[in-house]
Amino acid sequence: MKSVKPLILVIEDNYQLHILLRTTLESFNYQVVTSLTGQEGLVMARKHQPSLLILDLGLPDIDGQELICRFRKGSEVPIIVLSARDQEEDITQALDHGADDYLTKPFSPSVLISRINALLRRVAKNPSGGANEVFRVGDLTIELTRRRVFVGAKEVNLTPIEFNLLSELVRHAGFVVTHRHLLEKVWGVSHIEHSHYLRIYMGQLRHKLESNPASPRYLLTEAGVGYRLNENN
Ligand code: CA
Repeated sequence: MKSVKPLILVIEDNYQLHILLRTTLESFNYQVVTSLTGQEGLVMARKHQPSLLILDLGLPDIDGQELICRFRKGSEVPIIVLSARDQEEDITQALDHGADDYLTKPFSPSVLISRINALLRRVAKNPSGGANEVFRVGDLTIELTRRRVFVGAKEVNLTPIEFNLLSELVRHAGFVVTHRHLLEKVWGVSHIEHSHYLRIYMGQLRHKLESNPASPRYLLTEAGVGYRLNENN
Protein backbone atom coordinates (compact mmCIF):
# COMPACT_ATOMS: atom_id res chain seq x y z
CA MET A 1 0.00 0.00 0.00
CA LYS A 2 1.22 3.46 -0.85
CA SER A 3 1.65 5.74 2.13
CA VAL A 4 -0.06 9.13 2.11
CA LYS A 5 2.27 12.05 1.47
CA PRO A 6 2.13 14.74 4.15
CA LEU A 7 0.48 17.92 2.90
CA ILE A 8 2.19 21.25 3.48
CA LEU A 9 0.41 24.59 3.19
CA VAL A 10 2.61 27.50 2.11
CA ILE A 11 1.29 30.99 2.88
CA GLU A 12 3.60 33.43 1.13
CA ASP A 13 2.95 36.44 -1.07
CA ASN A 14 6.02 35.97 -3.26
CA TYR A 15 5.04 33.87 -6.21
CA GLN A 16 8.65 33.02 -7.12
CA LEU A 17 9.06 31.51 -3.69
CA HIS A 18 5.95 29.38 -4.25
CA ILE A 19 7.65 27.83 -7.24
CA LEU A 20 10.88 27.19 -5.36
CA LEU A 21 9.09 25.75 -2.34
CA ARG A 22 6.81 23.59 -4.42
CA THR A 23 9.71 22.16 -6.43
CA THR A 24 11.77 21.50 -3.32
CA LEU A 25 8.99 20.01 -1.23
CA GLU A 26 7.58 17.84 -4.01
CA SER A 27 11.01 16.42 -4.75
CA PHE A 28 11.09 15.28 -1.10
CA ASN A 29 7.73 13.61 -1.46
CA TYR A 30 5.53 16.20 0.16
CA GLN A 31 2.26 17.47 -1.27
CA VAL A 32 2.01 21.22 -1.47
CA VAL A 33 -0.83 23.73 -1.53
CA THR A 34 -0.09 27.43 -1.71
CA SER A 35 -1.80 30.68 -0.92
CA LEU A 36 -0.75 34.27 -1.61
CA THR A 37 -2.64 35.92 1.27
CA GLY A 38 -3.36 35.27 4.92
CA GLN A 39 -7.10 35.24 4.40
CA GLU A 40 -6.85 32.62 1.68
CA GLY A 41 -4.41 30.69 3.90
CA LEU A 42 -6.98 30.46 6.69
CA VAL A 43 -9.55 29.11 4.26
CA MET A 44 -7.11 26.62 2.73
CA ALA A 45 -6.04 25.39 6.17
CA ARG A 46 -9.62 24.62 7.10
CA LYS A 47 -10.24 22.94 3.78
CA HIS A 48 -7.05 20.85 3.49
CA GLN A 49 -6.06 20.21 7.14
CA PRO A 50 -2.33 20.36 6.33
CA SER A 51 0.31 18.46 8.33
CA LEU A 52 2.48 21.57 8.49
CA LEU A 53 2.35 25.28 7.67
CA ILE A 54 5.05 27.44 6.14
CA LEU A 55 4.10 31.00 6.85
CA ASP A 56 5.65 34.24 5.65
CA LEU A 57 5.54 36.94 8.34
CA GLY A 58 5.17 39.78 5.82
CA LEU A 59 1.82 39.23 4.13
CA PRO A 60 -0.23 41.89 2.35
CA ASP A 61 -3.51 41.44 4.19
CA ILE A 62 -3.10 39.95 7.69
CA ASP A 63 -0.18 40.50 10.05
CA GLY A 64 1.84 37.28 10.33
CA GLN A 65 1.76 37.39 14.15
CA GLU A 66 -2.00 37.69 14.16
CA LEU A 67 -2.23 34.78 11.76
CA ILE A 68 -0.13 32.57 14.05
CA CYS A 69 -2.40 33.41 16.98
CA ARG A 70 -5.47 32.55 14.91
CA PHE A 71 -4.00 29.20 13.85
CA ARG A 72 -2.94 28.43 17.41
CA LYS A 73 -6.46 28.98 18.74
CA GLY A 74 -7.82 26.02 16.87
CA SER A 75 -4.90 23.71 16.17
CA GLU A 76 -1.46 22.45 17.03
CA VAL A 77 -0.33 22.16 13.40
CA PRO A 78 3.45 22.73 13.25
CA ILE A 79 4.30 26.19 11.90
CA ILE A 80 7.58 27.28 10.33
CA VAL A 81 7.81 31.03 9.76
CA LEU A 82 9.78 32.69 6.98
CA SER A 83 11.19 36.11 7.60
CA ALA A 84 13.49 38.69 6.11
CA ARG A 85 17.00 38.94 7.50
CA ASP A 86 16.47 42.07 9.59
CA GLN A 87 13.38 40.87 11.46
CA GLU A 88 14.84 39.26 14.57
CA GLU A 89 12.22 40.79 16.84
CA ASP A 90 9.45 39.52 14.61
CA ILE A 91 10.91 36.02 14.69
CA THR A 92 11.10 36.03 18.47
CA GLN A 93 7.53 37.26 18.70
CA ALA A 94 6.36 34.61 16.26
CA LEU A 95 7.98 31.84 18.30
CA ASP A 96 6.49 33.23 21.48
CA HIS A 97 3.07 33.23 19.79
CA GLY A 98 3.40 29.53 19.08
CA ALA A 99 5.35 29.10 15.84
CA ASP A 100 7.66 26.08 16.09
CA ASP A 101 10.64 27.17 14.07
CA TYR A 102 11.80 29.78 11.59
CA LEU A 103 13.96 30.31 8.52
CA THR A 104 15.52 33.55 7.38
CA LYS A 105 15.34 34.33 3.65
CA PRO A 106 17.21 33.36 1.60
CA PHE A 107 17.26 29.90 3.09
CA SER A 108 18.81 26.69 1.93
CA PRO A 109 16.35 24.06 0.67
CA SER A 110 18.20 21.32 2.57
CA VAL A 111 17.84 23.22 5.86
CA LEU A 112 14.15 23.72 5.14
CA ILE A 113 13.68 20.01 4.51
CA SER A 114 15.55 19.00 7.65
CA ARG A 115 13.45 21.40 9.77
CA ILE A 116 10.24 20.03 8.27
CA ASN A 117 11.32 16.43 8.78
CA ALA A 118 12.29 17.14 12.39
CA LEU A 119 8.96 18.79 13.16
CA LEU A 120 6.90 16.04 11.58
CA ARG A 121 8.98 13.40 13.35
CA ARG A 122 8.37 15.08 16.66
CA VAL A 123 4.63 15.23 16.08
CA ALA A 124 4.51 11.58 15.03
CA LYS A 125 6.67 10.35 17.89
CA ASN A 126 5.39 12.49 20.66
CA PRO A 127 2.01 14.13 20.11
CA SER A 128 1.95 15.68 23.58
CA GLY A 129 5.31 17.38 23.05
CA GLY A 130 7.04 15.90 26.12
CA ALA A 131 10.65 14.71 26.22
CA ASN A 132 12.08 11.27 26.76
CA GLU A 133 13.54 10.62 30.17
CA VAL A 134 17.04 9.98 28.84
CA PHE A 135 18.34 12.17 26.03
CA ARG A 136 21.47 11.24 24.09
CA VAL A 137 23.30 13.17 21.41
CA GLY A 138 26.94 12.67 20.39
CA ASP A 139 28.84 11.98 23.61
CA LEU A 140 26.26 13.75 25.81
CA THR A 141 23.77 11.88 28.00
CA ILE A 142 21.17 13.81 29.98
CA GLU A 143 18.89 12.05 32.47
CA LEU A 144 16.01 14.43 33.09
CA THR A 145 14.37 12.89 36.15
CA ARG A 146 17.57 11.92 37.91
CA ARG A 147 19.09 15.27 36.94
CA ARG A 148 22.39 13.73 35.89
CA VAL A 149 24.56 14.70 32.92
CA PHE A 150 27.44 12.78 31.35
CA VAL A 151 30.04 13.61 28.75
CA GLY A 152 31.12 10.20 27.53
CA ALA A 153 31.33 8.08 30.70
CA LYS A 154 32.24 11.02 32.90
CA GLU A 155 29.55 12.63 35.04
CA VAL A 156 29.45 16.44 34.94
CA ASN A 157 28.29 18.49 37.92
CA LEU A 158 25.85 21.22 36.97
CA THR A 159 24.34 23.85 39.23
CA PRO A 160 20.53 23.72 39.55
CA ILE A 161 20.17 26.69 37.18
CA GLU A 162 22.53 25.19 34.63
CA PHE A 163 20.60 21.94 34.73
CA ASN A 164 17.22 23.65 34.42
CA LEU A 165 18.46 25.62 31.43
CA LEU A 166 19.85 22.52 29.76
CA SER A 167 16.70 20.49 30.42
CA GLU A 168 14.55 23.20 28.84
CA LEU A 169 16.67 22.93 25.68
CA VAL A 170 16.45 19.12 25.81
CA ARG A 171 12.65 19.33 25.96
CA HIS A 172 12.82 21.24 22.65
CA ALA A 173 15.81 19.39 21.20
CA GLY A 174 16.41 20.32 17.58
CA PHE A 175 14.24 23.43 17.85
CA VAL A 176 14.99 27.02 18.61
CA VAL A 177 13.96 28.21 22.08
CA THR A 178 13.65 31.97 22.55
CA HIS A 179 15.49 34.03 25.15
CA ARG A 180 12.17 35.00 26.65
CA HIS A 181 11.00 31.40 26.97
CA LEU A 182 14.23 30.31 28.66
CA LEU A 183 14.31 33.26 31.03
CA GLU A 184 10.70 32.70 31.99
CA LYS A 185 11.06 28.93 32.51
CA VAL A 186 14.37 29.01 34.36
CA TRP A 187 14.30 32.31 36.27
CA GLY A 188 10.61 33.27 36.22
CA VAL A 189 8.49 35.98 34.55
CA SER A 190 10.11 38.75 36.57
CA HIS A 191 13.39 38.06 34.75
CA ILE A 192 12.38 38.04 31.10
CA GLU A 193 14.41 41.19 30.41
CA HIS A 194 17.61 39.79 31.93
CA SER A 195 19.12 38.22 28.84
CA HIS A 196 22.67 38.65 30.20
CA TYR A 197 21.86 35.82 32.66
CA LEU A 198 21.41 33.55 29.70
CA ARG A 199 24.68 34.51 28.08
CA ILE A 200 26.55 33.85 31.32
CA TYR A 201 24.90 30.49 32.02
CA MET A 202 25.13 29.30 28.43
CA GLY A 203 28.84 30.12 28.57
CA GLN A 204 29.18 28.01 31.71
CA LEU A 205 27.26 25.12 30.19
CA ARG A 206 29.40 25.20 27.08
CA HIS A 207 32.56 25.10 29.18
CA LYS A 208 31.28 22.02 30.98
CA LEU A 209 29.79 20.17 28.01
CA GLU A 210 31.55 21.21 24.83
CA SER A 211 35.03 20.11 23.81
CA ASN A 212 35.45 23.48 22.07
CA PRO A 213 33.20 26.03 23.84
CA ALA A 214 34.07 28.76 21.33
CA SER A 215 32.73 26.63 18.50
CA PRO A 216 29.93 24.60 20.09
CA ARG A 217 28.62 21.33 18.68
CA TYR A 218 25.56 21.03 20.89
CA LEU A 219 24.51 24.36 22.34
CA LEU A 220 23.99 26.56 19.30
CA THR A 221 23.30 30.29 19.30
CA GLU A 222 20.50 31.61 17.11
CA ALA A 223 21.60 35.23 16.89
CA GLY A 224 19.09 37.67 18.34
CA VAL A 225 16.49 34.94 18.89
CA GLY A 226 17.58 32.22 21.30
CA TYR A 227 19.37 28.88 21.49
CA ARG A 228 19.01 25.48 19.91
CA LEU A 229 20.23 22.12 21.18
CA ASN A 230 21.60 20.45 18.08
CA GLU A 231 20.32 16.89 17.90
CA ASN A 232 22.23 15.95 14.74
CA ASN A 233 25.61 15.00 16.11
CA1 CA B 1 6.27 38.73 2.08
